Amino acid sequence: MNRYETLVSLKSHSPSVLIVGGGINGVGTFRDLALNGVDTLLVERSDFCSGASAASSRMAHGGIRYLENGEFRLVREAVQERNRMIQNAPSLVKPLPTTIPIFKLLSGLLNSPLKFMGWLEKPAERGALVIKVGLIFYDAFTGKQRAVPRHVFENRTRSLKKYPHLNPAICYTATYYDGLILSPERLTLELVFDAEKEGDHARELNYVSLSGVNGNKAILKDELTGETFEIQPKLIVNAAGPWIDRTNRTIGLDSHYVGPTKGSHLVLNNPQLREAIGDHEFFFENKDGRIVLIFPLFDKVMIGTSDIPIEDPDNVRCTEEEVDYFIEMVGRVFPDIKVAREQIVYRFSGVRPLAYTRAKNAGQITRDHHIQEDKLGDIPVYSLVGGKWTSFRAFSEQTTDRALTFLGMPRKADTKTLPIGAGANAAALRQTPDFTYDEITAMAECEKIVHLDDLLLRRTLLAYLGQLNRSLVEQMSDWLGDALGWDGKRKKDEVTRAIEILADKHQVRL
Ligand SMILES: Cc1cc2nc3c(=O)[nH]c(=O)nc-3n(C[C@H](O)[C@H](O)[C@H](O)COP(=O)(O)OP(=O)(O)OC[C@H]3O[C@@H](n4cnc5c(N)ncnc54)[C@H](O)[C@@H]3O)c2cc1C
Repeated sequence: MNRYETLVSLKSHSPSVLIVGGGINGVGTFRDLALNGVDTLLVERSDFCSGASAASSRMAHGGIRYLENGEFRLVREAVQERNRMIQNAPSLVKPLPTTIPIFKLLSGLLNSPLKFMGWLEKPAERGALVIKVGLIFYDAFTGKQRAVPRHVFENRTRSLKKYPHLNPAICYTATYYDGLILSPERLTLELVFDAEKEGDHARELNYVSLSGVNGNKAILKDELTGETFEIQPKLIVNAAGPWIDRTNRTIGLDSHYVGPTKGSHLVLNNPQLREAIGDHEFFFENKDGRIVLIFPLFDKVMIGTSDIPIEDPDNVRCTEEEVDYFIEMVGRVFPDIKVAREQIVYRFSGVRPLAYTRAKNAGQITRDHHIQEDKLGDIPVYSLVGGKWTSFRAFSEQTTDRALTFLGMPRKADTKTLPIGAGANAAALRQTPDFTYDEITAMAECEKIVHLDDLLLRRTLLAYLGQLNRSLVEQMSDWLGDALGWDGKRKKDEVTRAIEILADKHQVRL
């Protein structure tokens, strides 16, 4: 069904389940419910994968550092899900060798006990011994899945031979494997399309929000026309990520489930740094234990991330202070490589929907997920709190199981080994600026594009990799507009809108 047909169908037929939020957790749950024959509608107030899910560090990872918090269940689950992502979506999730430069031998030994006693505000830098023990556990969690090789430790001499630009003050490097999600935006869309293929019982709309309730009816707003309409679901899944509490408030529920933190990244065009890291992610911490990553992304380098508690999840930006911090951190590990602000081709920020806690250090807040249940009259509302990109499938499965039990339906199929997008759609995507007219037309027809920026920021990596210039943006608007029936004015307005978003949110000036 196209957008119009979906909107019309809702007038005569309400879904059993309404999912609010088209990030990875909403979409993952949508796919699982669709697979099990549940009549489901997903609404996303903006574009699919435009919230926290678009701002991630693109790592499919267990989170080795959470072992220090004693979060063994979380890390085991995430390692297993990382392996499943590599196996089920091989064209979009690749094994990622990850190297930790280590500057000390014994430091950090007390982190874990001090955390347990609640006496640790800022963890000390982890030394070789702590990292070794962590990696032994990490490898063990992989069990029989063997999607990636085991870790290796290398001494200073061997490390410097391999990475001549590394800081000579290191004493070891440790290399282990995680997963690289090449395009979280595309992976999310593949899941949307997989759900759609299950039949007309799976409907979804981007640019539609949940805006209120009227008795036992949910009020939805078409963000393109401003029109509102009502549906009567039996169950609501609030997958609004950092906006969970706000969304609950719009339907009269007073919750305080998330304590969001902001994280930013830069994408750099620095060929020397790109060459120095090879195909490895460099993953390390600064002196106060905060995590830094330097990440190979095609021919560019991505650097992140910060972890700053915030109140307002809207309008977060990568600040100049964060840029200074990232540049300083690169210097700590690769001191002879110069990074200049002019090399930044893209910046982005997002908000982690972490469970609300009184922890003093943002890095110590759990990344685990859980479902909170409230009632709106007779209608249960499940709020999906916390979680990592990596564990979306498991979180979606847990949500689906609970929904099936509530609806009195059996589970017919599960997603543990289900391929995503069958690899076919993802492989068709060309990751270069050289798209043909026909490819853009096909995307316009099949991929729910509403605005030019949907194409530039999320259906392709053009913005992300710094490949845009003004004439390319105009050409894309022209081609997209032909397929979507835009007149000359609309094409120009879309160019203005895209250029404003690029400048405002990502500091890309064209
Ligand atoms: C900086 C950063 C780095 C991260 N790095 C990693 C990583 O490397 N690996 C990893 O595994 N995880 C990572 N994460 C965590 C991961 O990205 C998030 O936990 C996950 O994406 C959350 O997904 P979500 O679907 O719950 O939320 P979101 O993706 O935010 O989706 C919620 C959606 O709800 C929509 N919405 C809000 N209100 C309404 C409404 N009223 N009606 C309709 N729609 C609404 C929003 O527009 C949004 O699109 C990172 C997160 C951040 C911010």
